[in-house]
Parts: sequence; C-alpha cells; structure tokens
Amino acid sequence: MEGRFVRVELSIGDFLRRAALVYPTRVAVVDETLVPFSLGTLSYASLAARASTLASRLEALGVPLGGRVAIVSPNSARFLIAFFGVSAYGRVLVPINFRLNAEEISYIIAHSGAEVVLYDPELREVMAGVDHATTICLDGVGDQGWFDETSDLPAPTAWAGREDDTCSINYTSGTTARPKGVQLTHRNCWLNATTFGWHLGVSDRDVLLHTLPMFHCNGWGMPYASTAMGARHIVIRKIDGEEILTRVEEHAVTLLCCAPAVIASVLEAGRLRREAGRSLPGRDRVRVVVAGAPPPSKIIERVEDELGWEFVQIYGLTETSPLLTINRAPSEWDELGAAERSLLLSRAGVPAVGVEIAIDQDGEVLARANHVFAGYWEQPHETASALAGGWFHTGDGGYLDGAQLTITDRKKDVIITGGENVSSIEVEDCLFQHPAVAEVAVIGIPSEKWGEAVTALVVLRDGHEVSAADLIEHCRASLAHFKAPQTIEFRQELARTATGKLQKFKLREPFWAAATETSRDRA
Ligand code: AMP
Repeated sequence: MEGRFVRVELSIGDFLRRAALVYPTRVAVVDETLVPFSLGTLSYASLAARASTLASRLEALGVPLGGRVAIVSPNSARFLIAFFGVSAYGRVLVPINFRLNAEEISYIIAHSGAEVVLYDPELREVMAGVDHATTICLDGVGDQGWFDETSDLPAPTAWAGREDDTCSINYTSGTTARPKGVQLTHRNCWLNATTFGWHLGVSDRDVLLHTLPMFHCNGWGMPYASTAMGARHIVIRKIDGEEILTRVEEHAVTLLCCAPAVIASVLEAGRLRREAGRSLPGRDRVRVVVAGAPPPSKIIERVEDELGWEFVQIYGLTETSPLLTINRAPSEWDELGAAERSLLLSRAGVPAVGVEIAIDQDGEVLARANHVFAGYWEQPHETASALAGGWFHTGDGGYLDGAQLTITDRKKDVIITGGENVSSIEVEDCLFQHPAVAEVAVIGIPSEKWGEAVTALVVLRDGHEVSAADLIEHCRASLAHFKAPQTIEFRQELARTATGKLQKFKLREPFWAAATETSRDRA
C-alpha cells in the first residue's frame, strides 16, 4: 500500500557518503607521488569534500543532470574523486582509455555528447588534437577550483535520482569498427560492487593497489566497493612488475585486480628479486583478482607458490559491470596440491550471487544478472541483439561442468591484448585503406606476454609491394598503438566459406595448435 514502506534508490553516492561519515579521518587514497600534480594523501572527509567541489563546479558551469563528463587519464586520486563528484550528483561519467589517439578520443567525446572533458597533463600532446570547448587539464593549474577541499561555490544540489539512471558510459571495442558506449546504471554499479566486495570479503582493513585502469569498466567496480568499506586506495601510474612489488611492500597492500599480462610481469620481477636474494612482499596477505583471458594454470601455481598470494579469477564483461563468475578456492580445495588447485582455479568459476549462466545451442555463454547493462548508448539495434530473449549474449564460447564455467573461445571478433580489447574489424578497415592491400584478416594469436598478439594476414594486390614494417606504420599512424598488428604475414589467399565469408577460426587454428603443443612440451 502506498506510503507503507520506504524504498531507497541505489546510488553509488552511498559508498562515499558512508565512508566519509564512518571514517572521516582515515586515509582514503594515496595518490601517485611520482608526479608533480599529485594530490598526496587524502582522508575520506577530504575525498568527499573534493567530490562535492567537483559537483558544484559542474553545476555552476550548467552541466545538467544526466549531462556527460568525460575523463581521459591514467589512474589518479582525481579520477577516484570524479567517480563520485560526477556520478553521485546525477551526471554521467565517461571514462576513456588514455591510450587512444586524438581521433579515437574525439569520436567517443562526440558520440557520448560529453560537455566537459577532464584530461591528464601527460596527454597534452594527444589532447591538442581533440577539438572541444571545455577541456580541463588535471595538473593542479588548469583544474584549480575543481578538485579542492574547500570551495566558494554554493554546495551542489543533492541528487534525488533513480537507480536506473545512467551512472557511467564505458566505451569498449567490440564487434563493430567503432567502440560502443556501455551504459551502466547506478543499480548495475551498486550491485556489482557489493556482490564483488562480498565474494572477495573486502573490508575496512583492505588496501587496494590500483593496478587495473580505472577507465576499464570503472576499475571493475572495485573503487566503489573499497570506498564503501573505508578501505585504502593506493594509486599507481606505471604498471610495472617491480614497481607493483615495491608498492605492495610499502603500503601493506592486500588486494589488487589485473589482467594476466600484469601478473606475469609481477612474477618476472619476483624471479629477479629472488635471484638477487631479496624478499617478496605480501605472502599470505595479498589476494590478486585476474580476468580478461584464461590465465595459464602454471601462472596460477607460481602466484600461489612463489608469491604466496591468493589467486582469484573472475569472468565478465564491461556490459555486465563486470562480475559474472568467480573462481575463489573453496575450503574443499585446501588440502589439494598446488598443481591440482591451479588447474581448478584456471576455470572462469561459478556464478556470482544473483547471476544466472546458460549456454545456448551454439556454445555461446549467456547471462542474466542485476548488473547487466541498460544498453549501448544510442545504439538500439545493437542493444536489442545483445539482449535478445532476455539474456545477455556474451560472444564468448564455453561450457558448464556443474556450476563451473570454462571459457573456451571467443565467438565475437575481438582480440584481447594485454587486457585491452581490439576490434579486428577496426584494424582490418585501417589496413584496407592501404593501396597495396587486396584482402586482410586480423586475428589474435597466442602471446606469452600479452595473452594475444594482434596479427594481420594480408593478400597484396597484383603488382603492388609493401613491407610488413610499412603496413604496421600505416596502422600506427591512424590507430592507438596497442591496436596496430605486431606481426603481418603475407598470404596468397585467405580461407573463406562458399558465400565468401572469412573463416577466421581456420586462420587462427594453426597458431593456437602450435601454442598448445609448446605448452604441452613444456609440461
Ligand atoms: P571487457 O569488456 O573489455 O572487460 O572484455 C570482456 C571479455 O574479456 C569477455 O567477453 C571475454 O572474452 C574476456 N574475458 C574476461 N574475463 C575472462 C576470463 N576469466 N577468461 C576468459 N576470458 C575472459
């Protein structure tokens, strides 16, 4: 009956509000100290005050509720402030991959309709090529009065929005040449953060090292979960194995999230430390959460054995905020040997609370959850096909063994290299623009360092010549560098179906078969 119950809309603002109320004096964030524009060490009261200043500033500028605010930046305390200063006051944050080039960034800014663009000073050169009226450089000068603890402006209007309102739009490279804007609602982000935090047991004693880019699906929602609990955030800009070990030691880090390539670099740094007779930090204290690609079980074994860190795997997508499944060793595995445990941990895991997983007749993984996105920004057709039949279609191939999901392959044409998505179609489009290229297929091939390496198989036009190096340079000139092929192979023809469609699985097959043989030989 109306008026008989109180319904409180979920807002990610709840997280910082609670932290500032319960832990006002506690250290919230230690910003990167290696840059001159560092904000240093901030308490939760300070973080909340600065988020409020940012909101006041946006309000004073006339950015309306629902207006978009883009940020192009490596991890920083300002980014953490922006999560709340923008979204908690009813505006929409658009985090942009800072490795993109000016044209790619411009596309996202225009497509999202961002009214303000916040950018890191180290991106000045790239941003010079971005045409936008309101760009704010986050260097302590250009952003004076934007991130301060105190402000002359009136306090921002408290937001009384709905939980289904958009919290952020996260652009992700997928099956189309241009990235799509994944609209995550407050409800999506709130439930992802709390469910994720619950599964990982995030508490006020945690110290989170930001090894995952904050732009990538809002750092998987971990900045929200950690803030809600009053945990400490440690910002790191340079993602390097030894640097990570140093911070883990210095700040008594307990938690980090990363792609398999990053954990591989930590293991390598650990190996060098041990050879030099140095100790490794974090044994029996750190849990590391890995996703983005299936990590080899040998890597898992080394993380648990050499570093003594707990290895947790999750599986999900930007479209699912991201948590779908989690593989965290249950008590039943305590007595197992390292090799056996690692094999079990190399699967994607079991559904998180509130998630349903199914496999369709083509072997595609489908998901239903409270944190499945609202849709692709201004792309109703793409949204309808991704959500057809009331399930989210992941584009990943896999199978279920009881509750355990294993991801076997990718049905969509996306390459994941070093944790970043690359659309094969976008790279193919770019190569096609070269006059010497007649046909091209861009595929991901196994790479120990990157998980997958972008590779182009190219058929040249009759009478044309071009070197692999020139084609790579051609791509680097118009695409973000991480998207450019690392290898080009010239072919006489490419495998196609009777209807002329490229058979990418056939093109990929020999590379992956060779990799499986190598790893079998090593084992
Ligand atoms: P993104 O939207 O950028 O987070 O990328 C999501 C994609 O990463 C998924 O569709 C999968 O292809 C891949 N992925 C994420 N986690 C895993 C995992 N644990 N195992 C295998 N692939 C994964």
